[in-house]
Amino acid sequence: MNILVTGGSGYIGSHTCIELLNAGHTVTVIDNLSNSSHVALQRVRKITGKEVKFYHGDLLNRQLLETIFSQNQIDAVIHFAGLKAVGESVAKPFLYYHNNITGTLLLCDVMEKYGVHQIVFSSSATVYGAQKTVPLSEELPLQATNPYGKTKQMIEEILQDLSIANPKWSIALLRYFNPVGAHESGLIGEDPNGIPNNLVPFITQVASGRLQELKVFGNQYKTHDGTGVRDYIHVVDLAYGHLRALESVVQNNGVHAYNLGTGIGYSVLDVVSAFEQVIGKPIPYKIVDPRPGDIAVSYADPSKAKEELNWKATKGLYEMCEDAWRWQKTNPLGYEKEIQSV
Ligand code: NAD
Ligand code: UDP
Repeated sequence: MNILVTGGSGYIGSHTCIELLNAGHTVTVIDNLSNSSHVALQRVRKITGKEVKFYHGDLLNRQLLETIFSQNQIDAVIHFAGLKAVGESVAKPFLYYHNNITGTLLLCDVMEKYGVHQIVFSSSATVYGAQKTVPLSEELPLQATNPYGKTKQMIEEILQDLSIANPKWSIALLRYFNPVGAHESGLIGEDPNGIPNNLVPFITQVASGRLQELKVFGNQYKTHDGTGVRDYIHVVDLAYGHLRALESVVQNNGVHAYNLGTGIGYSVLDVVSAFEQVIGKPIPYKIVDPRPGDIAVSYADPSKAKEELNWKATKGLYEMCEDAWRWQKTNPLGYEKEIQSV
């Protein structure tokens, strides 16, 4: 199939492009490079030995979308493109609603026009907000608490309505837990702008000496060691989840939501300890106040994806840390400084 991957040069998108190409699909990417580098797709080509057609541009540019769909026989879309920083979304809600929601509306409108009704959408475990119990399963009521999470929740609802209006639509809503790690080649990985917000990229930058120490946000939660617990999932496992979801949308109409997580919760200190084992030295950290808006515990019930998609995460925490560290060591300053060597 010819798959249009929006946001395909980003962190999860680039890993998914590799698995799509390895599985024999043709891949066409649209990305405005607002949070990624064109080097990522050069690396995807290097790893797979296959071509990726790239359109540098914005989902908000309807004319460009028309060009892509008229120039290419697109069979299905995997829709990653979106802004994803929770804190920034609180400060700039209009930017987030416009980019994520308007972008998705335009994409779906053009898909409808060109008769393409199969889409796999990047949602997030953020849509669950704070629930009373874990593990989190798909039928829980959605209650996102920040503009970023609300864009995901609203897009899920928009896609539900599209499917009611036209039963030809076939939609997978993938609710990712905490994607970490990198491709085993060390050639592609997560390359955050500025100081990382997320735990694992922060730890890798402390480990490499780029940052001084990790701040652990709170140690008084009701968890086994007092620090926050999350469901970390290897980005390559996540990429395979998209392949399974693609197979499913080709076969089944309607809207189906799936958790993509391991079902296992690890604390911040568990992750620090796994990293210390990988690098063979201590990670300096200090306990600071909890981060506003953080919840104590979040992990998935991944059984629906196992039953309906035949997908299950296979990589453990040690492998996630090992692969994240290989990427960090090989590319200490991320992609842009490596352009000469590609
Ligand atoms: P990323 O920022 O690395 O990738 C997103 C890509 O979309 C970037 O390359 C960016 O340049 C592009 N983009 C953004 N707005 C665009 C627009 N209007 N037009 C064209 N391109 C645009 O993020 P990621 O971690 O790979 O996440 C991919 C998707 O998964 C996002 O929708 C994100 O919200 C969702 N998600 C991510 C996580 C996570 O922790 N990484 C967790 C849950 C859900
Ligand atoms: N965290 C931390 N220090 C950091 C970044 C994150 O202690 O510098 C904690 C955070 O409080 C949460 C976990 O690590 O318990 C995962 O946070 P992340 O931002 O990676 O993902 P989230 O689940 O919040 O989206």
